[in-house]
Amino acid sequence: MSEDVEHRVVLVTGATSGIGLAIAKRFAAAGYTVAVNGIETDADAAPALAEIAAQGGKAEYFGADLADDAQAEALACRVIERLGRIDVLVNNAGIQKVAAIEDFPSTDWHRIIAISLDSAYHTIRAALPGMKRNGWGRIINIASAHGLRASAYKSAYVATKHAVVGLTKTVALEVAEAGITANAICPGYVWTPLVAAQVADQARVHKMSEEDVVRNVMLAPQPTKAFVRPEEIAEMAYYLTGDLARSITGAAISIDGGWTAK
Ligand code: NAD
Repeated sequence: MSEDVEHRVVLVTGATSGIGLAIAKRFAAAGYTVAVNGIETDADAAPALAEIAAQGGKAEYFGADLADDAQAEALACRVIERLGRIDVLVNNAGIQKVAAIEDFPSTDWHRIIAISLDSAYHTIRAALPGMKRNGWGRIINIASAHGLRASAYKSAYVATKHAVVGLTKTVALEVAEAGITANAICPGYVWTPLVAAQVADQARVHKMSEEDVVRNVMLAPQPTKAFVRPEEIAEMAYYLTGDLARSITGAAISIDGGWTAK
């Protein structure tokens, strides 16, 4: 599609923080209108929204709790109603919980699946008819290295991210001839508030100091021994929307410092 990106709309779920915020800023800088989703109130999301809008594009906030099926189902429809279209859909919202399977609370189990997997099912279903009409669309699901490999104490997260990769592949096949691609990005450890919040939990279950958790647990599987930066994920997401990426579909793209090379 050679259409000016100024007319394009990207919806990024979980865009008020971390990787989603970096992606929203990258698309805003390219001139997209950015539909920013998060769980925060309008007031709490305002600083992130201002940061995104400062990049140059337009940004509007669509608060929704994606753990709630009705709100997740309504989100993409609200965006289309307000902004007219969704050209690029980035399913990024996600949470983590670290606990042994026997101790894993079922509320956390269901919440993790709902936020990352069920919400992607809803947004994809709502966005596809418009993408098909336009003959162009990009679906980018932020999975994880945990969509390809497991780690102990993360049963719900690992199961969900594997499922997100499976969903991505299936959608890619269904829309392959419609000018639409669907890909998963699988980051290793990226230093964001989600990861920072895990350090204390991991220290507890592994019975280690927080410094040892960072060095010997988190970065242990990442051969570069360095966190990925959110901007590196954002740049790949943007690349996937370019004309030269039109043949990349159904892929699980690792950005993990070599983790899954092992
Ligand atoms: P983060 O905690 O910095 O941001 C999470 C975002 O999700 C926020 O914008 C928040 O508002 C939103 N969110 C949380 N619960 C929500 C809900 N119920 N409804 C709507 N929005 C909700 O997280 P992050 O580290 O940037 O992670 C973003 C994505 O990247 C997640 O899917 C995560 O699994 C994935 N990921 C992260 C890493 C990492 O190391 N940080 C690695 C691989 C994959």
